[in-house]
Amino acid sequence: MAAATSGREKLVIIGSGPAGWSAAIYAARAQLSPLVYEGAITEKNRLSGTLPLGQLALTSEVENFAGFPHGNLGAFLDSALPAERRQMMAPHAGEGVTGPELMELMRQQALNFGTRIVTDDITRVDFSKRPFTLFPSEGGSVTAECVIVATGASANWLGLESEEHYKNRGVSACAVCDGALPRFRKRELVVVGGGDSAVEEATYLTKFASRVHLVHRRDSLRASKIMATRAHEDPKITIHFNTELAEVLGDDAKGVTGVRLVGTDDPARETRLEVAGVFLAIGHTPNTAFLAGQLQLTPKQYIVWTKHFRTATSVDGVFAAGDVADDYYRQAISAAGTGCMAALDAERWLAAQGVH
Ligand code: NAP
Repeated sequence: MAAATSGREKLVIIGSGPAGWSAAIYAARAQLSPLVYEGAITEKNRLSGTLPLGQLALTSEVENFAGFPHGNLGAFLDSALPAERRQMMAPHAGEGVTGPELMELMRQQALNFGTRIVTDDITRVDFSKRPFTLFPSEGGSVTAECVIVATGASANWLGLESEEHYKNRGVSACAVCDGALPRFRKRELVVVGGGDSAVEEATYLTKFASRVHLVHRRDSLRASKIMATRAHEDPKITIHFNTELAEVLGDDAKGVTGVRLVGTDDPARETRLEVAGVFLAIGHTPNTAFLAGQLQLTPKQYIVWTKHFRTATSVDGVFAAGDVADDYYRQAISAAGTGCMAALDAERWLAAQGVH
């Protein structure tokens, strides 16, 4: 989808997760007429988890975004609020909110205030002089007085040759995207990882699988208590502690047919499981490669916020928001919060430059 660009933009926002849309909502309401590059819809982006709308578009129900309680919101409001406050609200028949719904709502909210959207990737930037120049994958360039980078992070892979070989043929880093495929239904599956994502993916996959094996390299889960308890209590989940995935087994006709696991405490302890799918949930890497070193990054490649409690980066006029600059909180709501902060920082910075 192409948007009318003005040749020299006031503010370009790169990225379309909660940080990008929150920045766009605030910037559009401040009449900065922001232009959002939301990412391209390509197979490459699908495989790397960088499609438009970010990581939330790859999740199921969002239980922890304030304002969207789980379950029937109408019934919740009926029971939680005194009648005099409840009667001032329109009836709500919804059932909580899913990640994709939340992202579509944010995108629409940004559009409603006049945000322009281009469905393409920015593949290269030149931040060495102002106005900044951004290079979309479809060709050409766009110049901008001010830029907010909100490109998020994407899923990590183990780096095994067999994992690469069977990607898209039983190996995936997104249970919500791929879990319902016929090849996984009523079959045994493996999830690798011990954090909240691994538990979330394992729990989600129990809807389709006959059994889910959660394979974790340490002797306890890193996941939050409520999530870990869910995994321990789920009769369809078997947890393999002190174990790592050594090899994905399969053949070219069927794709994945099994895994070879080895003990991290005892490499001689080897197990083979017959499974139809392997899902990786081992953390994320920030999407900063396209910056090619033009902003200061941490050793883990996250953008450095250079001013305390501000979204400024090492280049004056470039701001960062969300997971691309945050390897600590990494929550949808904290990303949305820093998106708002980046828009306010951008607005004030542009005003100081005399751009209104
Ligand atoms: P994470 O908390 O960093 O966990 C990554 C897991 O992968 C860890 O258990 C880690 O093992 C394991 N791991 C990393 N590299 C590995 C490797 N090379 N081989 C084997 N295992 C490896 O990441 P996450 O689970 O994606 O969660 C990220 C953030 O999002 C967290 O703050 C989390 O709370 C949040 N989150 C929240 C929800 C929710 O509330 N519903 C859902 C998903 C995520 P070690 O434990 O040994 O380091």
